[in-house]
Parts: sequence; C-alpha cells; structure tokens
Amino acid sequence: MFFLRNNKRDISKEKRWKIRRSCLDLLFECAKDSHPYEFGGLLRVDDEFKDTITELVVLPGTVSGESHAIFKLHMKPVDFSIIGTVHSHPGPSSNPSKADLELFRKHGKIHVIVAAPYNYKSWKGYDYKGNETEILVV
Ligand code: ZN
Repeated sequence: MFFLRNNKRDISKEKRWKIRRSCLDLLFECAKDSHPYEFGGLLRVDDEFKDTITELVVLPGTVSGESHAIFKLHMKPVDFSIIGTVHSHPGPSSNPSKADLELFRKHGKIHVIVAAPYNYKSWKGYDYKGNETEILVV
C-alpha cells in the first residue's frame, strides 16, 4: 500500500494576511512619534475583507510607554474585527521578547512588531504562536 498524498504544506489553504499600505505607513509614523519609547495599538480588519488589516486602534492612555504595560487590554472593546496587536521596538530587533510571546498567545491572531528605524525593512508579522508570518502589503 502506498500513499499518493505528499507531505508538502498546502499553503493555498492557509490564511494569507494582508495589510493596507496606508495603515502600515501609519504604524511607522506612530512608532517614530513615540521614539525612544514604545508604541502600542490594536489592529483591525476590514469588514468586507477579513484578512486585510486596514485600521489601527489606539486605546486611551496607551499611546506609548517604556514597556508592554502600554497594552491595557482590559480596556479592549468587544469588537471581533480587532484581530491582533502592533507595537514598536525602539531598537533594531523586530524579534518578539518573552513578554511579547505571552501577549501574542493571549490576544489575537496576527501581530506586528515595528523596529527602529521604522520602515518597510524593519517590521515583521507573527502568528499567535510567535512564528514569523508574512503579511502582504496591499
Ligand atoms: Zn516587544
């Protein structure tokens, strides 16, 4: 007996995340404004295209700070179009810290880290497990 199915991952079935260029530009701007502090916010998807991040939501009193305390997630509105988080790293590394991984695991499906100098080369997307995830800029 043999199996014809191969073990290659069927990426066509995996969710492909996208982000509007204007939204990504806004993330860079907010990160720059907050520098040398961290900036944090929530990401919202389009009502129609639920795989496309179109909006940044900033919770009151959480615009920037020195640590991940910027996420006052008990203030998170009940809104199912909010699908993840974004925060900045004032340093050059866009890799998630231990605290970031904890945050990712608990809050949302897709997460963005924007590292200094906050441009198209210094940001990365992650899934809730902290695996690097490609987000297409549209
Ligand atoms: Zn972080």
